[in-house]
Amino acid sequence: MAGESVSNSPYDVVIIGGGPAGLTAGMYAARANLRTLAIAGDSTVSQVTVTDLIENYPGISEGINGFDLAERFKAQAVQFGLETASGDVTEGTGKRWGDKDGWEIAAGEMRFGALAVIIATGANWRRLGVPGEERFIGKGVSFCATCDGPFYKNREVAVVGGGDTAIQEALYLTRFAKKVTVIHRRDRLRATAILRKRAFASEKIAFAWDSVVESIDGLDLVQEVRLKDIKTGALSKLSVNGIFVFVGLTPNTAPFRELVRVDAGGYITTDAHMQTSVPGIFACGDCIAKRLRQVVTACGDGATAAFSAQLYVEELKGEAY
Ligand SMILES: Cc1cc2nc3c(=O)[nH]c(=O)nc-3n(C[C@H](O)[C@H](O)[C@H](O)COP(=O)(O)OP(=O)(O)OC[C@H]3O[C@@H](n4cnc5c(N)ncnc54)[C@H](O)[C@@H]3O)c2cc1C
Repeated sequence: MAGESVSNSPYDVVIIGGGPAGLTAGMYAARANLRTLAIAGDSTVSQVTVTDLIENYPGISEGINGFDLAERFKAQAVQFGLETASGDVTEGTGKRWGDKDGWEIAAGEMRFGALAVIIATGANWRRLGVPGEERFIGKGVSFCATCDGPFYKNREVAVVGGGDTAIQEALYLTRFAKKVTVIHRRDRLRATAILRKRAFASEKIAFAWDSVVESIDGLDLVQEVRLKDIKTGALSKLSVNGIFVFVGLTPNTAPFRELVRVDAGGYITTDAHMQTSVPGIFACGDCIAKRLRQVVTACGDGATAAFSAQLYVEELKGEAY
């Protein structure tokens, strides 16, 4: 494990992020004989590590727990020489290393030198922004069914959202809760057909269609949510012990928004080679502007970013083939 400051000799590649994108990039870069470091965040986790079951990763037809898959990614990358560290990266600044332009990456007190940088910081859960949400986090408001589902044995919970993640998590929660109400702002689900079918077949799952959460209420713990029917304007109350929010993501790109170009949602824009607006800085995975955010696409982006970084570093060192 690395983790100390590197003052004189920069890494060939520093990867910011220790999820599927970052670890795949790390495996490819290290295997290409580049001196490579991957820094995983302290205050954020890889989304895959909180996913109970991944059943759409090619080659693993029996499905795999997300944490176990991430551990496999890491072991494979380390086996090829990837170094790892942990810390929240707050800044990347241009720095000259001898006769070469590169970067200095800051994470707390640590400083890491790099000739090329790959940003693979993923995305985090978006909040509803309603009264009670912040106050009851950890007291009934959750963004992770895998983490908190077991607390709701034989209790009633709500899930907010209608996409794949919301429905997958609602199905997972039926293992514990006696009733799961899916609150969705539309009158149909966006989730893929197989998940919709499973949800409609579950006796434990009910739906509050065309509904948004107005507030989350309780004394010390969540006791009910106030709902508004967006078609009729009617208000109602739903008694629940917990509410799980899956209404999309915001990218973990705050430290880099002045450094590289991002879109209106804060996602880093790249070309097909994962090159950002700044030469020598690449990005991959859930933090970039793209259509499908999944493990398999994160891995694909990571491999491409590493190969692009390899070509960049070889060119910089005058070793291009
Ligand atoms: C509940 C749930 C279920 C899912 N189910 C599936 C599924 O069934 N199949 C599927 O393919 N996908 C699924 N996904 C999506 C999948 O988990 C993501 O697409 C994938 O994890 C993205 O990988 P990533 O490496 O881009 O980002 P992440 O896995 O989120 O990793 C981001 C990494 O960046 C680090 N980081 C963030 N900010 C910083 C910083 N400032 N400094 C240093 N490090 C930082 C984090 O600590 C983490 O290591 C699911 C997601 C969720 C939440």
